[in-house]
Amino acid sequence: FPVDRIRNFCIIAHIDHGKSTLADRLLEMTGAIAKTEKNKQVLDKLQVERERGITVKAQTASLFYNHQGQQYLLNLIDTPGHVDFSYEVSRSISACQGVLLIIDANQGIQAQTVANFYLAFEAQLSIIPVINKIDLKNADPETVESQIEKVFDIPREECIRISAKLGTNVEQVLQAVVNRIPPPMAHINDPFKALVFDSNFDHYRGVVANIAVFGGRVKKGDKIVSAHLGKTYEVNELGLLRPDEHPTQKLFAGQVGYIIAGMKDVKEAQIGDTLYLQQQPVEALPGFKPAKAMVFAGMYPMDQSEYPGLRSAIERLTLNDSSVTVQRDSSLALGAGWRLGFLGLLHMEVFNQRLEQEYNASVIVTAPTVPYKAVLSSAKLIKNRRATQKNMVYIDDHRVMMKYLFPLNEIVVDFYDLLKSLSSGYASFDYENAGYQAADLIKMDILLNGQPVEELTTIVHRDRAYSTGKAMCEKLQDSIPRQMFEIAVQAAIGSKVIARETIKAYRKNVLAKCYGGDITRKMKLLKKQAEGKKKMRRIGNVEVPKDAFINVLKRK
Ligand code: GDP
Ligand code: MG
Repeated sequence: FPVDRIRNFCIIAHIDHGKSTLADRLLEMTGAIAKTEKNKQVLDKLQVERERGITVKAQTASLFYNHQGQQYLLNLIDTPGHVDFSYEVSRSISACQGVLLIIDANQGIQAQTVANFYLAFEAQLSIIPVINKIDLKNADPETVESQIEKVFDIPREECIRISAKLGTNVEQVLQAVVNRIPPPMAHINDPFKALVFDSNFDHYRGVVANIAVFGGRVKKGDKIVSAHLGKTYEVNELGLLRPDEHPTQKLFAGQVGYIIAGMKDVKEAQIGDTLYLQQQPVEALPGFKPAKAMVFAGMYPMDQSEYPGLRSAIERLTLNDSSVTVQRDSSLALGAGWRLGFLGLLHMEVFNQRLEQEYNASVIVTAPTVPYKAVLSSAKLIKNRRATQKNMVYIDDHRVMMKYLFPLNEIVVDFYDLLKSLSSGYASFDYENAGYQAADLIKMDILLNGQPVEELTTIVHRDRAYSTGKAMCEKLQDSIPRQMFEIAVQAAIGSKVIARETIKAYRKNVLAKCYGGDITRKMKLLKKQAEGKKKMRRIGNVEVPKDAFINVLKRK
């Protein structure tokens, strides 16, 4: 296929502005899928995407489009809109020369519209602004065009007004893709060189890599090398994604497709890797900036016997989602496990759900934390919790964009929900890392009859210590059974106790029930009690069931 008739583009936008719906129409109009009422967000293939109604993985589809008597190959990548998945957007952009920037005709420019615009702008891609949902009663494309001129400095004449739902003017979008986006700078006569921009693990076929061919050609049977590990593989299968796998004989410069080459280990064909022919080595492409984890949580198997299974599930899923960082960790209470880093709370929830749905794994997830740097000195005394305003830009008469510096732990858990409800859904929000700041954080211990419980020591902000400590004591009180003596459950900072609950004494005589009973029944009961004890951990003189740790450490 001649390179000058190839276009690679992705669809970017704020969440819910209609990316996946536009992708459906483009697929239908080019004959990739049949026209039926049932086609709703067909590229959202994962169960988690269908259940939540959001895109979490970028998806690729190759379309054939006839324009003025010529056939064009259009490679489309639909991307997620939520800030937690912006890593998917930046990866997709590296395989493209242009973007469709979708903006809802009713909502106008929102936080992720701005964030995604800058990703495309910095990568110097052609940007086609598309105003969607013009069929809505309150649609106001005029105002949105003014916003686009003002905020992005793109002339209003370049905007295309469409209804992705009804298909209105979508043909114009296809024409703009052909006319305004340049073909890829890839040469068929160069040595073969491809970027692995996505990858997933198939149970039977091993690693299936999605590649963008930057030069040359590759065919079945070729010996290829992955630059990352330097290992050689034979190409078993390759083809286009339309959007389902469609095997072909060769892939050429400028094309986007998939390749299967007998890679059985998830460490092979990592996202960002370069592939080349064994006899024609090339310099590796720069790859991707590693994602910066913002939220950390522990993940543990329900039972230690499930550790190996969970390990391979996590490895396979992180092959598909390389923005997750994984470190081995262990907890006195929960045994061997991992500490995983995510880009946000939604990302963490989606990852957890995918582990359960796609890998049948059940896990204990601990309460999320944000990264801290500890300096062991009195400099922590500096108090700084308030957000500081950085700047403010009026988008139009009704909308303002404000920048603040926030401590991450103030925004990570419930800030977004709060902002949405306070603004009746009008405000939107995006964030980037601004580095570490000094804060008044303290170490809080949990004590059982005066003995510290190492597993439950936490770092909290001084202002939150009381409420967190109290909540932890209450949970422990509920999950530790009464014992022969009274148990004091305390939260303490240094030697100062800040919260306390009491578990009353209870004399539990399991043999009392068998008064006069036969000896075998007594033995059985004693054995059962001994087995129960094995699941206990002794802290000082207190027996703590494993469940108690799980209840306190787990997310609600
Ligand atoms: P994405 O998050 O950007 O991928 O958005 P979706 O494609 O999932 O669409 C979000 C919602 O907007 C869905 O309920 C769509 O049916 C709806 N939607 C998309 N395009 C249009 C449109 O042109 N008109 C109307 N009225 N609704 C639309
Ligand atoms: Mg979507």
